[in-house]
Amino acid sequence: MAGNILKTPIDYLNGVGPERAKILQSELGIYRFEDLLNHFPFRYIDRSKYFKINEILPTSAEIQIIGKIKSRQEIGQQRGKRLVAIFQDETGEIELVWFRFTKWLKETIQNAVGKPVVIYGKPNEFNRKYSIVHPELETLENHKSSPLSLFPVYSSTEKLQKKGITNRVMQKLQLQLFQEVQRLEENLSDEIIQKFRFPKRLDAYRQIHFPKNLEELKQAENRLKFEEFFFLQLGLLVKKLNHQQKFKSFEFDSIGDHFNEFYSNYLPFELTNAQKRVVKEIRADLARPVQMNRLLQGDVGSGKTMVALLSALIAIDNGYQVAFMAPTEILAQQHYQALENYLGKMDLKIGILSGSTKTKERREILEDLATGKLEILVGTHALLEEKVVFQNLGLTLIDEQHKFGVAQRAQFLKKNKLPPHVLVMTATPIPRTLAMSLYGDLDISVLDELPPGRKSIQTVHKKDKDRLALFKFMKDEIQKGRQVYVVYPLIEESEKLDYKDLMDGFESISRAFPLPDFAVSIVHGKMKPADKDFEMQRFVKGQTQILVATTVIEVGVNVPNASVMVIESAEKFGLSQLHQLRGRVGRGAEQSYCILMTKDQLNEDAYQRISTMVRTNDGFEVAEVDMQLRGPGNLMGTQQSGVLNFKLANLTKDQKMMHTARFTAEELLKNDPQLEKIENQAIKNHFQKNYKETLIWSRIG
Ligand code: ADP
Ligand code: MG
Repeated sequence: MAGNILKTPIDYLNGVGPERAKILQSELGIYRFEDLLNHFPFRYIDRSKYFKINEILPTSAEIQIIGKIKSRQEIGQQRGKRLVAIFQDETGEIELVWFRFTKWLKETIQNAVGKPVVIYGKPNEFNRKYSIVHPELETLENHKSSPLSLFPVYSSTEKLQKKGITNRVMQKLQLQLFQEVQRLEENLSDEIIQKFRFPKRLDAYRQIHFPKNLEELKQAENRLKFEEFFFLQLGLLVKKLNHQQKFKSFEFDSIGDHFNEFYSNYLPFELTNAQKRVVKEIRADLARPVQMNRLLQGDVGSGKTMVALLSALIAIDNGYQVAFMAPTEILAQQHYQALENYLGKMDLKIGILSGSTKTKERREILEDLATGKLEILVGTHALLEEKVVFQNLGLTLIDEQHKFGVAQRAQFLKKNKLPPHVLVMTATPIPRTLAMSLYGDLDISVLDELPPGRKSIQTVHKKDKDRLALFKFMKDEIQKGRQVYVVYPLIEESEKLDYKDLMDGFESISRAFPLPDFAVSIVHGKMKPADKDFEMQRFVKGQTQILVATTVIEVGVNVPNASVMVIESAEKFGLSQLHQLRGRVGRGAEQSYCILMTKDQLNEDAYQRISTMVRTNDGFEVAEVDMQLRGPGNLMGTQQSGVLNFKLANLTKDQKMMHTARFTAEELLKNDPQLEKIENQAIKNHFQKNYKETLIWSRIG
């Protein structure tokens, strides 16, 4: 069968023996024909452009020159031995140098003396003379007979070069491959191919390796990128459909007393329209006997906690318990406090469980949990332990998704007869395209509106020389009754230095803000939890005006009276972290400020981060820039996810294509959920062969 030829071991390709096969495997992971086919050029050289020798500049990249070899000679001894040729055109001459050469190469060059040849390589300047080391070389005649105007360049390694698998050899192997592979099974439907005017699959592969021109290359890339996005999205959507069929859950079909009582008596503010919309979405999910698997995205301060609380009340009104998990002790504590404040006057029992809960308390909590006396249990990942047994868990709220793995999330599913509903909240927004590929199998709700009356935070960039003015500004704000955060970076590699900075900073602030007029707290990771908590509480209660801290306060801390956030060495922080930190202020009615302190000279990347912060308060915009700067793979732990291993497609540059692929996959499944129609068989076959998700699918289907 034609499809099977792709599975042929690479040793069987003409020109690849056992030795080359071994090196292709170890260096490039090429085991079979299909792997070679998918080893794409990483760039192309425009072969229609030629240079003259007198046009060479010290900055020239790889170039092509037409000329003649005037003479050649072998010089040096042993390891210093090299082959040197003088190459000339009508404007001058340069040296060509080979440090490694075979007999064959020696002969080729000898034969070429005096004949027109084309050389290709990167010129080096030495003693104001140019030379090219290991140039590619071919006769002008051969060169002219090649139809390629774009010359593919493959990524290589030193080992490959040493074993003689040069770029030219790689090209030859690819050409050989296309001799053997004459047919490639289609994996898209005619409808899709026609709609987007894609080349046929085999043509796309041929064109990406050997494009005749840029237009052809673009078309080939488009098709292959689309395939990557499309099959990713199809996989996610099938997973979502599977989930809906497989994971039955509890039906919360009534809105009852607690929800109504809270809504009419205790809701401290009018919900934003975004909050109302999202609560509706969640409510609709919970009312179906299918497990909710929803991601709640919202900027810092957009009011995710209230959405979580209202969801909890729906579960409770239907006779179920709620788990609320946070990534840190401080945050769990804070959520617990918030729930106690909001729900304190109602007849509900809320508990908190963490690593530091005392044994006796712990026993009581677990007992109340098992008998159903406790309606809501807040905590850290301590909630996941097997000993934590609910009488009837119906809803799990998870704050700050990326700190917990998917595996941890799955643990909750075992805590009742049917898996409870899950609402996951992110700490900071994720760009839409990234969310689509990472969480495309979840339902996503977005809080895209901040509560009203919030003054937008003013962000400024300052340097060391402005420090006196900064202290003065802090004093003025404190005199108005406000509080101030001062945050220092803590980077593992330079931990010692960072602690020194932190302590020096704490000292100089304590000196500039002396007792009894001022009081300063300090919190960092090396303190005992109890001490940390004590210091934190002093600040929360307003007993201290300044909190000097490392990034332990990064997530979630809520002190509405704090209106100034000073970030020291701000250039050392990533964008999302800066935005997170900034979100600690601007929580009260007062005008708030974020002051980014940096050293004098910033590199381009740091400058982009700082100026983005100064320019915008919008977390979605910040996330977008963050992705542009760091690449999607480096954004908040997404590298583990594995879904981002695209060969060609790029989430940052090809966003439109991603949306198109998602939409196309959605339409496809809407019209043919099981891919039963004859015209979709190509898609189904490819999908089933290459994506494990179908295993589950075929069981259901
Ligand atoms: P985050 O989305 O960052 O978790 P929070 O839930 O902590 O945000 O809410 C931030 C602050 O905004 C809290 O002090 C909360 O009480 C307040 N808040 C939430 N929703 C509203 C609203 N609709 N109107 C006014 N204030 C609100
Ligand atoms: Mg929060």
